[in-house]
Amino acid sequence: MFNTVHEDGLQRSGSFQTRAGLVRTPTFMPDGTRGAVKSLTPEQVASTGVDVVLANTYHLHLQPGEGTINKLGGLHDFTKQRLPLLTDSGGFQVFSLAHINKINEDGVTFKDPRTGDKIFLSPEKSIQIQFELGADMMVAFDDVVALDAASRGRTLEAFERTHRWLERSLAEFQKLSKKCTQAERPLLFGVVQGGLDKDLRRRSLEIVQSLPVDGIAIGGLSVGESREEMHDMLNYLGPLYDADRPRFLLGVGDPIDLRYAIEHGIDMLDCVIPTRNARHGTAWVEGDARIHLTNAKYIDDSSVIDPGCDCTTCQSGYSRGFLCHQFKVKEPLAGTLTSIHNIRYLQRICESYRR
Ligand SMILES: [Zn+2]
Repeated sequence: MFNTVHEDGLQRSGSFQTRAGLVRTPTFMPDGTRGAVKSLTPEQVASTGVDVVLANTYHLHLQPGEGTINKLGGLHDFTKQRLPLLTDSGGFQVFSLAHINKINEDGVTFKDPRTGDKIFLSPEKSIQIQFELGADMMVAFDDVVALDAASRGRTLEAFERTHRWLERSLAEFQKLSKKCTQAERPLLFGVVQGGLDKDLRRRSLEIVQSLPVDGIAIGGLSVGESREEMHDMLNYLGPLYDADRPRFLLGVGDPIDLRYAIEHGIDMLDCVIPTRNARHGTAWVEGDARIHLTNAKYIDDSSVIDPGCDCTTCQSGYSRGFLCHQFKVKEPLAGTLTSIHNIRYLQRICESYRR
């Protein structure tokens, strides 16, 4: 399904079709965690040139619930986001945010942090939620372990369970998409796990690639390991990917890591970093340097964030001085304008590799 346009070593550019439109790669995908990329309208998101927006199964399941979103026409109609939408499985948030009561072969029981209600998520349930939300791309539910806390035994257990859960996710996906025509069918990504163990990673990738999933997702990186360890693993996995499926690295968005990942065969990345940094006044400029717009030295600076940038914030001429002032008086517009710049910054990197 992946159409390679150009290859150079491990690095490649290409495209693939989803039911909501074409995705050109490499591409950065901003996180619309609760149905919105924080403080941005869909029009502002589209102005950054991104092809895909993420939404979060865990958060939307808890609030307002997939039933409500479905009643309001599904995620596209509900959010007015026209770009292809990818939902994650909810697994990462369950394991990192929720108070877990029980994990067993069936799935995970955890407490809703807001209401205290008991919630159960399983491979089948996660796929059902993603279908009800109306996602164009879905991710299979995996068993996630924190690298630092994981014993070898727990890593192995999660590794083996992730593949059993992938087969269940795939069966549920095939059941629910049976009546879809090829043009209506969403896509399913299987997740590769294995922590920092190269042998486990290679076996995990082989298992995921042996199944009829549409895309490969690399999970469990950028979760506390060093940059060198993450790069070493991406370098190791680079030559092992199938050519015909898109490869998605979850949760990575620092420009240095983004470049490294793309140069080692990754096609798609997502992260909250550009918008989170922006809300705190941090912007990327030429050469991957960071400037902190809250710094008092910018208050009388008439230049835009980055004179070489083509984002609507820089092109409209908003000065560092104006942004510094708006950050100081806690005006949300400052975060919005800087978010547009930061997302565009990452997307420009992706576009430079496409060229
Ligand atoms: Zn800009």
